[in-house]
Amino acid sequence: MQLYRLGDSGAAVADVQATLAGLGLLAGPHERFDEATDQALREFQQRRGLSVDGLVGAETYRALAAARWSLGDRLLSLATHPYVGDDVAALQERLLELGFDAGRADGVFGGRTEKALRGLQREYGLVPDGTCGPATLRALRQLGRHVTGGRPQVLRETETLHRSGAALPGKVVVIDPGHGGAERGATGHGLEEAAVVEDLAARLEGRLTAVGVRTLLTRGTDRSPTDAERAQFANDAGADLLLSLHVDRASSPHCHGVAAYHFGAGRGTTSTVGEELASLVQREVVARTGLLDCRVHEKTWELLRLTRMPVVRLELGHVTHAGDAARLADPAFRDTVAEAVLVAVQRLYLPPDLDPPTGVMRLPAFL
Ligand SMILES: [Zn+2]
Repeated sequence: MQLYRLGDSGAAVADVQATLAGLGLLAGPHERFDEATDQALREFQQRRGLSVDGLVGAETYRALAAARWSLGDRLLSLATHPYVGDDVAALQERLLELGFDAGRADGVFGGRTEKALRGLQREYGLVPDGTCGPATLRALRQLGRHVTGGRPQVLRETETLHRSGAALPGKVVVIDPGHGGAERGATGHGLEEAAVVEDLAARLEGRLTAVGVRTLLTRGTDRSPTDAERAQFANDAGADLLLSLHVDRASSPHCHGVAAYHFGAGRGTTSTVGEELASLVQREVVARTGLLDCRVHEKTWELLRLTRMPVVRLELGHVTHAGDAARLADPAFRDTVAEAVLVAVQRLYLPPDLDPPTGVMRLPAFL
């Protein structure tokens, strides 16, 4: 889709401004995408856990469209073209708080949301029609916010994790090489992100397979699925985890280091298992490679939001930094990273009393 940015004008820009104004982020009339619009948009992106770049691209556009709806604005039910918006996310969060399993508060009214809604309606003596209308809204208001802080979806994820046991054999891990084929990703110092992540994915696949994990790749070299398609693929596969592999770039040649991302919007809807996985991957990679620790962050990127399992997106160093690029070009380094990720996956499933310190575990243990 077309990108909109500072200096642009037209109907789409006016639309963006109207949404920002509706959210109280932008005041007064603006003829074009001016400095104030840019600031308001960045504020919006920051709040939403999007990349703060001042650009209206596909993801920011979708978030803006979602932000136009608040709970009560329209009837919500399961539809061929699912309802998407902040009103749906708000409903899902309320359902989750009340102990009904609406999955993740992803803002998409799907089958699981409907089932949870019917459960609520049944339990509170409403007609269980799966439609969130005036009667349900009244019930939700009356129920108040008695049940908060329990974060049932987080408890459920943790429970699923523990129920699945510490053994790796039989688990399904989807590996997502962020780039490949004709789409080469970030470049710098003679390196291409696609080549690095394809190689890393192959090493990781080998190591996971060696310990009995069933691994699936989101892509071959012939096609480039969207983030939503990758998420769908992992959901359909019933994956236990998804590992998304990227290498970062920066406009400054001085930026370097590794970062890990997991789902979270800073509204208490964070996935703690995803956070735990991201934190383990980050700690193991930093401990074993000595790359600068750019820490773990929450994002609402589609790949993180639309997936039903814990997901980590690793940004392994900066290809635009001479030092990082030299490390990335070294096959032994990539092998160390694959080992670090494998150990992080194993540690995620180990009970706390068996969890080893960071940087020392070797796998497979029986070799
Ligand atoms: Zn990338």
